[in-house]
Amino acid sequence: MKTAKNVIFLLLVLQFCSIFGQSLSERTIVVIDPGHGGMDSGALGINGMKEKDIVLQVAYEMVNLNEVFFNDKVDIYLTRYRDTLVSLSDRAKLAKGLKADLFISLHCNRSINPNASGVEVYAYQGKTPFSNTSVWLGYGLQKELNGKLGFKSRGVKFADFQVLRETAGVCPAVLVELGFLSNSDEFGYLEDQGNIRAMALAILMELYNYINAAFSKYL
Ligand SMILES: [Zn+2]
Repeated sequence: MKTAKNVIFLLLVLQFCSIFGQSLSERTIVVIDPGHGGMDSGALGINGMKEKDIVLQVAYEMVNLNEVFFNDKVDIYLTRYRDTLVSLSDRAKLAKGLKADLFISLHCNRSINPNASGVEVYAYQGKTPFSNTSVWLGYGLQKELNGKLGFKSRGVKFADFQVLRETAGVCPAVLVELGFLSNSDEFGYLEDQGNIRAMALAILMELYNYINAAFSKYL
């Protein structure tokens, strides 16, 4: 069912391309943070597939789709482009140094309960000027991943993760757990490159939606 939905979703993108106007007056800088890397594999999938590799693939696809389908509508920077371990503080420093407009950290979940499933989003637990917009972005991402790809929404939660704490004062920032590698259905989904692309596209679409909505408030 999800694969069939992906085809429809990809077709809809072509339509979306034609209606997405040139409403952004200045470059929007988005920092995408593929979690883990190098000796830190993150969660392991049922067949040994690693979280660090899956999230890097999603990030690459976002860069690629933004360029190919949307003519580099936003400037996307990755905190890592290879299988290397970057410290959490350096990931946040990149967002700060670039004066990022959005920061999204990509991860996959794991649970001892094989039935646990869905997409979970975290925002920083402390109060910052970007608290509300981070939560708004988080719900938007869940809505997109649920509506377009069928992932269950597990809600937006609050945490004191270092990467969120150190980007919280810079821009809206969220950490997204893109499904459970311990769930055979979701793990099977993430094994497929076409599905990785669909997931990257869903995140990108919400990102554009978010930016358009945020921008239109100031028109
Ligand atoms: Zn992780």
